[in-house]
Amino acid sequence: MNKISPSLQALKRIAQSVPTPFHLYDRGALIRRAQGLNQAFAWNPAYREYFAVKATPNPYLLEILKAQGCGVDCASLTELMLARAVGFQGEQIMFSSNETPAEEFRLARELGAIVNLDDITHIDFLRENGGIPRRICLRYNPGGDVTIANRVMGRPGEAKFGMTREQIFESVKRLSALGAREFGLHAFLVSNTTDPAYYPSMARMLMELALDIHRQLGAKVFMVNLSGGIGIPYRPQDTPVDIAQVGRGVEEQYRALIAGTPLHPMRVVTELGRYMTGPVGCLVATAIHRKDTHKHYIGLDASACDLMRPAMYGAYHHITIPGKEDWPLDHCYDVVGSLCENNDKFAVDRMLPRVDIGDLVVIHDAGAHGRSMGYNYNGKLRCAEVLLNEDGSFQVIRRAETPADYFATLDYPGLPR
Ligand SMILES: *Cc1c(COP(=O)(O)O)cnc(C)c1O
Repeated sequence: MNKISPSLQALKRIAQSVPTPFHLYDRGALIRRAQGLNQAFAWNPAYREYFAVKATPNPYLLEILKAQGCGVDCASLTELMLARAVGFQGEQIMFSSNETPAEEFRLARELGAIVNLDDITHIDFLRENGGIPRRICLRYNPGGDVTIANRVMGRPGEAKFGMTREQIFESVKRLSALGAREFGLHAFLVSNTTDPAYYPSMARMLMELALDIHRQLGAKVFMVNLSGGIGIPYRPQDTPVDIAQVGRGVEEQYRALIAGTPLHPMRVVTELGRYMTGPVGCLVATAIHRKDTHKHYIGLDASACDLMRPAMYGAYHHITIPGKEDWPLDHCYDVVGSLCENNDKFAVDRMLPRVDIGDLVVIHDAGAHGRSMGYNYNGKLRCAEVLLNEDGSFQVIRRAETPADYFATLDYPGLPR
């Protein structure tokens, strides 16, 4: 399996001191992922992965990625604060925001981050809030549909992000007049794709745009930013993306288009979130109820507040029962949480081994857009995060919320503060 599968023994040991539910991350697996990605793009000496902080905004994980040479991609004030606290600075920070408040641009500029502008109207806004830097990135939206091998993969024409081609050219002119000298180009067209042709085809699009900008405006394009979007195999039968093949595919485009032009050497960078942390994390819960009515239900101590993707997107997350990996999958269950919402289901009609009350339940591939999308509906408290080290030791890297956390923004007698 292309996902972490902590043993029953390891989970029991953790659960003795950290009550379920909790998110668990595997340190060694995260490091191997970062190394594999860096290896795939090693042909580009200035390559950097800017980890998309929103996927897993925990400073202890950001520290691990920093030690592997990664930067961070931020899109909000608190994400920038996290980056600063972990010691990221200057061009180790990408700021790919949209509909950006003034104070966020100001902090991004203060930190020396590469600002990735989502719209042409943000030029004047940035000029007044932090100022125009020498190097700046622009987010491109080609519109229409994205097709790879005749399959529609995404609909950028329907996406709120980025600028049209004409606006990109206008922005380069306007920014040049305001003192910018080097430009990056960014696009994010498809989410969660395991098609190895995605990055190479987007690299081609951005590199061709870079050459057009250079030819027509004489402007220097120093970077193409391939953003995020590389997916993971959520289902056991899905094929994982071959990241080395992706890296070679982008390299071929670079050799064909950029090498031997005045734009060489040009930086290629990525802002992956899901690909980096998705498979190295899981949500660990306990089966606390069994219910047999018109269907068979397993009730967990976790809810959509801990992992929203199934409720929000109908997303598949693989589920295993540690210790029962070899049992026959001969029971059909809906695996559900405790929210007063009928979409609070981690799985519907899922074949599993018999689940008994007290069984630990592992919901896989929850390491990205999992805990971070958590919320407090029904007054549910968000769960802890635990880091499992290579030597089997573990560390709580975020405690679970308490009622006092939940009530902290209320000043009302009788409520814990
Ligand atoms: C969400 C996001 C990413 C990361 O996306 P993944 O699908 O998790 O790889 C990267 N860049 C930007 C601008 C984003 O909004």
